[in-house]
Amino acid sequence: MASAMEMLVGDQKIASQSDRWVEVINPATEQVQSRVPDADAGDVDRAVCVARQAFEDGPWSRMTPSDRGKLMYKLAELIEANADELALLETQDMGKPHFHSLNHDVPMAVDFMFYCAGLCDKVRGSQVPLGPDKHVYVLREPVGVVAGIIPWNFPLVIAVQKLGPALAYGNVIILKPAEQSPRTAIRLGELALEAGIPPGVVNVVTGYGETGAALCAHAGVDKLSFTGSSEVGKLIMEAAAENFRKVTLELGGKTANIIFSDADIDAAIASTVFTSCYNSGQICTTGSRLVMHKRIHDQFLDTLTSKLNQLQVGDPMDAGTKLGPIVTKEQYDRVNAYIKIGQEQYSPIECGQRQSGLDAGYYVNPTLFDHVAPDARIAQEEIFGPVISIIDFEDDDEVIRIANQTSYGLATAVWTNDLARAHRVAAKVDSGFVWVNCNNFWVAPIPYEGHRVSGVGADMGIEGVESYTKLKSVVVNLDNSPNPWVE
Ligand code: ADP
Repeated sequence: MASAMEMLVGDQKIASQSDRWVEVINPATEQVQSRVPDADAGDVDRAVCVARQAFEDGPWSRMTPSDRGKLMYKLAELIEANADELALLETQDMGKPHFHSLNHDVPMAVDFMFYCAGLCDKVRGSQVPLGPDKHVYVLREPVGVVAGIIPWNFPLVIAVQKLGPALAYGNVIILKPAEQSPRTAIRLGELALEAGIPPGVVNVVTGYGETGAALCAHAGVDKLSFTGSSEVGKLIMEAAAENFRKVTLELGGKTANIIFSDADIDAAIASTVFTSCYNSGQICTTGSRLVMHKRIHDQFLDTLTSKLNQLQVGDPMDAGTKLGPIVTKEQYDRVNAYIKIGQEQYSPIECGQRQSGLDAGYYVNPTLFDHVAPDARIAQEEIFGPVISIIDFEDDDEVIRIANQTSYGLATAVWTNDLARAHRVAAKVDSGFVWVNCNNFWVAPIPYEGHRVSGVGADMGIEGVESYTKLKSVVVNLDNSPNPWVE
C-alpha cells in the first residue's frame, strides 16, 4: 500500500485530531491504495480560522495583482512539471485511463490555471456617470474565504476550476476533495506553497460528506462552490441559506446528443463514441440520451456498435484502454442497477471488449438501449456510467420537446449541416451548453452554467470567475447645497 497522505492547513501537513482516516481504494485493483485524514468539525474549524487569518492579515491581500498573477503562473508551471505524478495519482484514485489523466486532465488543469493567472491584473471596477453632483465608482472585491467542494470524476481539473478564480480575485480557499479521489488536491495545495503562494491561502481538508457539510456550515466561510450531484447540491444551497453565503453549484445532467438526418454521420458517430464512453460515462455532460432521426437510425446504430466494440474496457494503466473501471463498488452497483431497470423494458446492446486476464476491478462495458421512451427512467435519471438511451424522433418540434423533457439543463449537442436548423434548435433548448457538431467541449474562457436542476451560477469564463467577487458601490457626494429634506 502506498503511504498515507496528510491534509494541508496553512503550511502544516496534518492528520485529523481524531486520528480517523479515509481509505482510498484503487477501483482497478479493489485494494487500498492510500489513506487520508477524515477531518471532523474541529479540524474544519482550524482550517477556516487559518484561512480567515491569511485573508484578513496575511501578505496575500496586500500583494499587487501582478505579483499574485506571477505566483499563479508559477503554480501552473509546477502542475505541468509534476504531470506524471498527478496523472498517476488521479488514475490510481478514481480509475480513469492513465493516457487520459496525463494527456487531457493535467493539461486542462494547467490551461485553467494559466487562464486565471492572467486575470489577476485585469480586474476592473466601473464608474457610473450621474452628473456633476455625485462621483460613483463600483469596486470588485474578493468575497473572502471560499469553500471548494470537489467531486471524484475530474478531481484535479475541478479543484483548479475552484482554486484559480478564487486566487485570481484575491480570495483564500479551503478545498474539500471527494473521499474517493483526494490526493491530487492535496498535491495541488503543496504545489501552491512551493510556488510561493503564502501559507493559509490554499488549504485542503479531506474526509467524507460530513467533512464537506461541516465546512459548508461554518460561519467563517463566505462562498460555497460545489460540483457534484444535484441531491448534495440542494443540501449545500440550504447550508448557504443559513448565513446568506454566496453559492455556485455545478450539478447533474442528462445531455441530449441530437443527430439530424442531414448531419455528417461519420463525425457524429465518432463524437457519439467519445461522449458515451469518455471517463466511462462519469461526466455530467455524458451524451446519455442519443436522440436520433428515424431515417438514419439503423445505419447509425450499426456503425456505432461496431466502433464501440473496438473499445478496450480494462486496466487504466494499459495504453490500449479507453474505458477504465467505475470509481467505486457503490457506483458500480448503481450503474448495474440502472442497466437492470433498462432491461425490464428493453434489450441491452452490450458493446466493448473486456480485456482478458482481469481478476478485479469495477468494470462496466458500454451499454445501449434502443427505442427508449423519452420518459423512461433510464432516459430521465442520471446514471453516471457508459449507459446510453437511444430515443427516436421525426421532426424538429418533437426533438426540442424531447431535449427539454428532463429536469436537468446542462448540455445539448446538435448534429446537422443545416445552419439555420442548428441555430433554431440552439435557441430553443434549455441548457447551459449547446454544442453544434461537437461534444463535451470545455475550455477556460467559456462559462459553464447549468440550467434548472443542473446548477446555480457559472464556473469559468469571465462571467463564472467574477462570482468569486462582490461589488461595492462608492457614492461620493460633490454637492454642497443644503439637504431639501431637512429644514
Ligand atoms: P457524487 O454523486 O459525484 O459521488 P456527491 O455529490 O455525493 O458526488 O459528492 C461530491 C462532493 O461533495 C464530495 O467531495 C463529497 O464528499 C461532498 N459531500 C457529500 N455530501 C456533502 C454534504 N452534505 N455537504 C457538503 N459536501 C458534501
